[in-house]
Amino acid sequence: MINVTRPYLPEKETFDRLVAGVWERNWLTNNGPLVNELELKIKEYLHIDHLLFVTNGTIALQIAIKALNLKGEIITTPFSYVATTSSIVWEGCEPVFVDIDPLTFNLDPSRLEEAITPRTTAILATHVFGNPCAIETIDEISNRYGLKVIYDNAHGFGVKYKRKSLFSYGDVSTASFHATKIFHTIEGGAVTTRNPELLKTLAFMRNFGHNGPDDFAMVGINGKNSELHAAMGLSILPDISQIIASRKRACEHYTERLKNLHISYQQINSEAEWNYSYFPILFLTEQSLLKAIKALNENCIYPRRYFYPSLSSLRYVKGKITPVADDISRRILCLPLYVGLSMEEIDFVARILLRCQNN
Ligand SMILES: *Cc1c(COP(=O)(O)O)cnc(C)c1O
Repeated sequence: MINVTRPYLPEKETFDRLVAGVWERNWLTNNGPLVNELELKIKEYLHIDHLLFVTNGTIALQIAIKALNLKGEIITTPFSYVATTSSIVWEGCEPVFVDIDPLTFNLDPSRLEEAITPRTTAILATHVFGNPCAIETIDEISNRYGLKVIYDNAHGFGVKYKRKSLFSYGDVSTASFHATKIFHTIEGGAVTTRNPELLKTLAFMRNFGHNGPDDFAMVGINGKNSELHAAMGLSILPDISQIIASRKRACEHYTERLKNLHISYQQINSEAEWNYSYFPILFLTEQSLLKAIKALNENCIYPRRYFYPSLSSLRYVKGKITPVADDISRRILCLPLYVGLSMEEIDFVARILLRCQNN
């Protein structure tokens, strides 16, 4: 069986060694030494100043919305994972969808301004598949209208934009370290910001609002993560360059093998150093996509329709017309991509796709 992804596992000895320390200290959670070390090492790797390790990428989004005290309408993308929209609704705000650019799959910056109303407080955009959004345009418009910017950077670990980590942009950026993501801690996530005052609020909110044992600075939630999750992250982080390099080789092999397939690709920002987090292909029609999925499944290959359906069709959001996102989401398919996927397996996937097209 070949799945769309397979979690990366580090050397077991590396993980065991870190876990042995947890047993010695008997310190399992609440800002333990491994959580601190992981935060430090990730900040060093990304060259950013502030980062907090949290429970998961969804809590990261919710804490970001809460810490920025957002109300009313938040402009967002219909082409992302459901957590991007559900976090907005969960925090009592209203998602307002702006359609995507058909080439980058990111929120279309030319449609941003017309969506702004007196109730708009922020923009929450996803760097889809790790492809940097139109950061300068979003900055310029958000400054002009006094809006906050949150980037859902669940896919962008290791991506650089203009030679800086993608986490260095926006008021807050969020990460997901879920097992299926390029860098993971089994379950986990992070919030990053350049603003030290905002960092304090985010830190209070992650820990019930605790300001010492007997004082509560503000309302908070339990967004902490554990020593065992940090141990997984610390075991994987040293391998991250190899992980990215291995995925790059797989993507290049796919591209070479699929050059006669009638598909197109996401246009990656020319100022980006990308992380090869996904291998999405865009079919000409939904019919050809469905035919391809069927042929792959018959051979025990399970790609995924990321992201389908478009989030503007969710039953708990107000209907919004997003024809580009609706169209792309019907035609897009992410092919299997993970460390350990062999060149022969890629050849096999490619052969099935080509045979299916020519039948
Ligand atoms: C995975 C993902 C999330 C949610 O992260 P979790 O860690 O699973 O809670 C949010 N947004 C996007 C775009 C994602 O892909």
